[in-house]
Amino acid sequence: MRDSNNKTGFSTRAIHHGYDPLAHNGALVPPIYQTATFAFPSVEYGAACFAGEEAGYFYSRISNPTLALLEARMASLEGGEAGLALASGMGAITSTLWTLLRPGDEILLGRTLYGCTFAFLHHGIGEFGVTSRHVDMSDLQALESAITPATRVIYFESPANPNMQLTDIAAVAKIAHRHGILVVVDNTYCTPYLQRPLELGADLVVHSATKYLSGHGDITAGLVIGRKALIDRIRLEGLKDMTGAVLSPHDASLLMRGLKTLTLRMERHCSNAQAIAEFLVEQAQVELINYPGLPGFSQYELAQRQMRLPGGMIAFELKGGIAAGRRFMNALQLFSRAVSLGDAESLAQHPASMTHSSYTPQERAQYGISEGLVRLSVGLEDIDDLLADIAQALKACA
Ligand SMILES: *Cc1c(COP(=O)(O)O)cnc(C)c1O
Repeated sequence: MRDSNNKTGFSTRAIHHGYDPLAHNGALVPPIYQTATFAFPSVEYGAACFAGEEAGYFYSRISNPTLALLEARMASLEGGEAGLALASGMGAITSTLWTLLRPGDEILLGRTLYGCTFAFLHHGIGEFGVTSRHVDMSDLQALESAITPATRVIYFESPANPNMQLTDIAAVAKIAHRHGILVVVDNTYCTPYLQRPLELGADLVVHSATKYLSGHGDITAGLVIGRKALIDRIRLEGLKDMTGAVLSPHDASLLMRGLKTLTLRMERHCSNAQAIAEFLVEQAQVELINYPGLPGFSQYELAQRQMRLPGGMIAFELKGGIAAGRRFMNALQLFSRAVSLGDAESLAQHPASMTHSSYTPQERAQYGISEGLVRLSVGLEDIDDLLADIAQALKACA
């Protein structure tokens, strides 16, 4: 095997980890095991698989060799022992939290969360006796005093979707572990190339691999990575019995194709986003820019400490609130008006009139989503074309 000991660099592992072509008839690209079930050599072998005494494959909802390669590769990139691939980011998040939480338990959440994660916690698992409470994770004292004997999990995104607020992963993990609480970090915005929460002390990392990891906007996929004992539980409880949110082997193959160019793409997403953020700083119509690569960003020092590069996502605030946001959005020509992120194509979304339009303005304010907030997912196009589009849209909304 070319790389089975994690000693090679990140890009090398993203391309090679866990796979030797010569063990697969020379196939350079790992074959896709497009099968639902697996034949047993004997009933005794089958019985041992079901009892967990034999590590063999028996049914693709539980494990499949194509997914196993993806899982090993992502575990290596995140610096974790094991990984589990799922059908979507929500599949990963729900399978994880259905496994970790029981009625009567409490979960502490970052103030701002991806909309469907918020809905799952408040209207999904919340209706089954799990209490969710939002805490401003930048106030470590408030976090520690919010912990009760029922608190099992601390869950947050850094940067948070959509407002780019960061959380100090190492500091939160230290507090959580003093109280025997697990820390789960959604690392979708960063990918392990920019930030590795497990190395900073988190217990589990979840991903929407629909975004940067696959990188081409053509699949939905999710992952959870962490200690093997926890991942085994999430596989056998959350995935096998509760959500069934299994990833297809074909989509696992597309995701591994995306991973091969992850570092190249992230470098370009970041350099394009940095240039756009620096342009926006100079514009009179822009009230506030949240981009971790700007020295004026309120958490710049933390970004420097825990992120390799500032990422491809920008949140900025237009003067003129919701109406200005709508005008800016409708004037864009190269940026697509679309949710999702991390694609080659640049995307823009206005939470107050799109993803968070069902919230009242008071609710938006409570969860850190202001009326004029625009979220950009900066793609891989030529920077001059992206800047020209933003300049003309700003002019049109003035
Ligand atoms: C998109 C997203 C999710 C959900 O992932 P899906 O693949 O759409 O299910 C979760 N967290 C964050 C931060 C996201 O951006």
